Amino acid sequence: MKNRRTTPESTATTCPYCGVGCGVLAKPDAVQGDVGHPANNGRLCVKGSALHETVTGHDRLLAPRVAGHNVEWSEAIDRVAEAIRVSVRDHGPESVAFYLSGQLLTEDYYIANKLAKGFIGTPHVDTNSRLCMSSAVAAHKRAFGEDCVPGCYEDLELADLLVLAGSNAAWTHPVLYQRIKASHRSGRKVVAIDPRQTATTEMADLHLQLRPGTDTLLFNGLLVWLNDHGALATQYLEQHCNGFEETLSVARACAPSILAVARGCDLRAVDVERFYRWFAETDRTVTAFSQGINQSVAGTDKANAIINCHLATGRVGRPGAGPFSLTGQPNAMGGREVGGLANTLAAHMDYDTPGAVQRVADFWHSEKLAAGPGYKAVDLFEAVHRGDIRVLWVMGTNPAVSLPDSTRVREALARCETLIVSDCVAQTDTTAYADILLPAAGWGEKDGTVTNSERCISRQRRFLPVPEGVRPDWRIIRDVAQALGYGHAFDYQEPAEIFREHAALSGYGNGGERVFDISALAKLSPAEYDRLQPVQWPLTGGNPGAWLQTRRLFSDGRFPTPDGRARLVPVSNLPPGQQPDARYPLIVNTGRIRDQWHTMTRTARAPRLFAHRSEPFIEVHPKDIATFGLIEGALATLTGPTRKGFTGRVRASAAQRPGEVFVPIHWNRQFASSALASNLIAPIVDPISGQPEAKFGVATLRPLITR
Ligand code: SF4
Repeated sequence: MKNRRTTPESTATTCPYCGVGCGVLAKPDAVQGDVGHPANNGRLCVKGSALHETVTGHDRLLAPRVAGHNVEWSEAIDRVAEAIRVSVRDHGPESVAFYLSGQLLTEDYYIANKLAKGFIGTPHVDTNSRLCMSSAVAAHKRAFGEDCVPGCYEDLELADLLVLAGSNAAWTHPVLYQRIKASHRSGRKVVAIDPRQTATTEMADLHLQLRPGTDTLLFNGLLVWLNDHGALATQYLEQHCNGFEETLSVARACAPSILAVARGCDLRAVDVERFYRWFAETDRTVTAFSQGINQSVAGTDKANAIINCHLATGRVGRPGAGPFSLTGQPNAMGGREVGGLANTLAAHMDYDTPGAVQRVADFWHSEKLAAGPGYKAVDLFEAVHRGDIRVLWVMGTNPAVSLPDSTRVREALARCETLIVSDCVAQTDTTAYADILLPAAGWGEKDGTVTNSERCISRQRRFLPVPEGVRPDWRIIRDVAQALGYGHAFDYQEPAEIFREHAALSGYGNGGERVFDISALAKLSPAEYDRLQPVQWPLTGGNPGAWLQTRRLFSDGRFPTPDGRARLVPVSNLPPGQQPDARYPLIVNTGRIRDQWHTMTRTARAPRLFAHRSEPFIEVHPKDIATFGLIEGALATLTGPTRKGFTGRVRASAAQRPGEVFVPIHWNRQFASSALASNLIAPIVDPISGQPEAKFGVATLRPLITR
């Protein structure tokens, strides 16, 4: 690795936006890409290069507030502790819930999970990462036995064929896209699978613009075709996999021929066959998948349909070959490590991992550890709405904008007996409902670690003074834990101590049967933690600085399942949760735009990030412009079954399939009160992963101005 150029003026840290996890050299008034960071080698995208423009702002929350009044920290901590204590006493631990965020650092995530699940005893801890990658998590677990991304970013460059499924990487993972594009220029092929033409599909040698919701059909058809053309790795299947025959049989029933696939996916048979032939012929093939796969009522099945094809060809964990889940958030992976999802525990374990509950309880010396899974995000807010959850602590996220059926979520927030919100921003759609507001440190003001899509742990380092009145999340949580009487288990003075404990737990009782192991980092000194270079888990070797990282997993064909074999999973092509009809004839696709992040609470501070797209819009196929009597450039409103609309400027775009529209997810009430994409998304979720179907809503469209 090259020397990283941290100097007294410039601090090596990590970008807080997407899951690429780029290294940044930051000063208060400037940032540049870190050439020494393996994720980006010095590159930054537009959002990353404007980071310094977003670190200050008039909208900072600078003092704790209770019932709208500024209070001292000691009072705020006491009020939070008291609300939790009374709720647990009167209604049991399950009346308390935490809703966390992929923006939190691993240390924050770990201690929040420990307090809620381990000491308050509530299982109801979920995270906004539920919205971005929980289907991939569930699919990995079904196929491999543990939630692991087998490969690394380099594989996307080494692949002779890169399949991008449900990913507009050019806008959502821009630096990774730049790496892919450079590799494409040197002659490698790209296939894009996406119902829309995007900046990413422009690069593709083949764009399969399929009917939304038919990805499983396409990949089931691929499995059948590979079998029928003698393109399977039969020896690999025999030696390392279970479930092939049943999986093939279900796939054949679903996708008996190329013509059936072409008809179902609304593609040309010749294009389907070309894709299948390229996949069969190209040993070094990576299929990278993202929200277009995950955000579906069948997201887990879709991801497994992809993984099935890689297992059947023995293309897992080899250079330039494997399935690759692209995560959305900067620390979605760190949240998975510490058990930030409602169905997971600490140390990357699930509740159903044998011995997991006891292992964690012993390590934490906890007598109250929640014994089973809690509510996933959509159900969690329903429980708040019902009044079953009375105290909700939201940290670093804005569910009033991002969760499906925003109106219902706002009702839940308004009804919540005690809503606690930790944020660095004073005014978000969610803080507006808070009973207790806790000012948290933002990017550049706190220390910790994040883990990106390729399992690479990177330091986020402080390079700005912490404003008076503001505290890092880990410290706020620690103080509440101590006020609740758990000081013996929460006696942390700095984030490095929390990280060491997290690392030690990954090795505790782990006889090698679990992949996630960073116990080699459990004895880092404060100085070693401070100097920690990006490193990919799992780690082997114990001496500080002498550990070995792992670029690829499962290269030896052994998997963390009871018999060491991977599992192909039979999957049918389940239809989306809703279908267009006469009342709601359009399919709504939602997604990110290039220069904004999530609900704009940070990126909106940099005016230049509005140059790309300055206002909410609705992308509509030209045919539908005529059908719905719209005027290009004028305002129109989409209305779906939740009865709340999305108003935006009509953009005519042949990039859409007729009958389908696209809207951006970012605008919040502060910037455009009538442009919440979440109003168009029904709270329909994948029954396995709990991930909402954000890529398939239904709506009708009417102009605000008629001709
Ligand atoms: Fe940040 Fe992602 Fe852009 Fe990298 S690609 S600079 S991590 S937003």
